[in-house]
Amino acid sequence: MRDGVENEPARRHRAVVFDLWETLIDWDPEGAARMVAQVGAVAGDGFVERWNSSTTRYVAPLRMALAEAGVGEGLMDEICAIRLAYHRKALVPRPGAVDTLRELKRLGFLVGLITVCSEDIVRLWPESDFAGLFDAEVFSSQVGLSKPDPRIYLHCCELLDVEPHEAVFVGDGANDELAGARRVGMEAILIEREGEDPLWPEIADWAGPRVTTIPGVLSVLERL
Ligand SMILES: [Mg+2]
Repeated sequence: MRDGVENEPARRHRAVVFDLWETLIDWDPEGAARMVAQVGAVAGDGFVERWNSSTTRYVAPLRMALAEAGVGEGLMDEICAIRLAYHRKALVPRPGAVDTLRELKRLGFLVGLITVCSEDIVRLWPESDFAGLFDAEVFSSQVGLSKPDPRIYLHCCELLDVEPHEAVFVGDGANDELAGARRVGMEAILIEREGEDPLWPEIADWAGPRVTTIPGVLSVLERL
């Protein structure tokens, strides 16, 4: 038990749930496009267009999504290797992210993850610096749900054994994820890059709490 815990007022929130891309790790749209083009050079004409318009790439097993985009079994291993190499490089915590996750746990918060991602991330997760830091991890490609579907937030809350109003969601706003969190009763914090306009139109008029670094979440939580 930490010092003085008995004298502290009851905290409203018990859990903090993070988005992954452009929240805990950087998302480089140009790097991602290069990787898809590299895959396209192997997979052949029309792949890039089919992949970019795929509705299953983030909510289905990778091989299934690639097959739907026209990748034959014979090219599957080579293409998966290209994708894995790209994702391994990308799955690197932003400054202060790991320390903040540890500090949240030390303070008694439960820590969750909800990410819209391909199965590459699921595969690489155990060997990443994030392994073992979360109480619940929800990967869209594993659960077959995407943000802002209310069920994906509720699933995470259930895994954490908290009510939605006891949880705070932190994300960059892609997939309308902040409003989605609020619609199920969670609080939401926007993370944005200092001095840059928001990437997503749906958060252009975000009036809720915001941070520019992951460690900044700690001080915002004190005010919520
Ligand atoms: Mg994101």
